[in-house]
Amino acid sequence: MIHYLIDWKKCIPDYHEPDIFAVDFENLYAKGYKALLLDIDNTLVTYDEDLPGEKTRALLDELERIGFEVVLLSNNNRSRIEPFALSLGFPAIFRAKKPFRPGFKRSLDTLERPREKHEVLVVGDQLMTDVYGAKRFGLSVLLVGPLSLETERWYTRFNRFVERKMLRRIKKKAPERYDELGLESRWKR
Ligand SMILES: [Mg+2]
Repeated sequence: MIHYLIDWKKCIPDYHEPDIFAVDFENLYAKGYKALLLDIDNTLVTYDEDLPGEKTRALLDELERIGFEVVLLSNNNRSRIEPFALSLGFPAIFRAKKPFRPGFKRSLDTLERPREKHEVLVVGDQLMTDVYGAKRFGLSVLLVGPLSLETERWYTRFNRFVERKMLRRIKKKAPERYDELGLESRWKR
């Protein structure tokens, strides 16, 4: 299976939270993260929401208030991502091809103020794209629970299938880290 070809150590996130609205971003800023690369689908909004709702807007306002520079980083296409990003006024990379490198590289180049990798935090809901991509590029990553599984497309469902295999592997290889991060809760969604 594909998950045996992937380095499981690069699939362990630095942080894990039930969803993005539960994250203590003030604390992350205090830890030294100054820029956020945010996934969109099922991280900020569900797949069937075209534009950010009030809760998402409030969160993004809060991130700016704290002082973060934000880039939206999505594997989805231009017609989905551009209107979304424009409505918020944030730069966005669409068709990022996570877990591959170019999208991450372009995100860093997009930052108004150049940042060291240790100042950048990736936030996303998928182990096999957001986490694996961030770690192989050398960035820290916060994994969040997906907002809704019901509206996911077939390719995301496939990623989830691989994710579950990988979660089992992490549980076996690094049980203490698995417990610390609360990764067991990902099975309950
Ligand atoms: Mg996503």
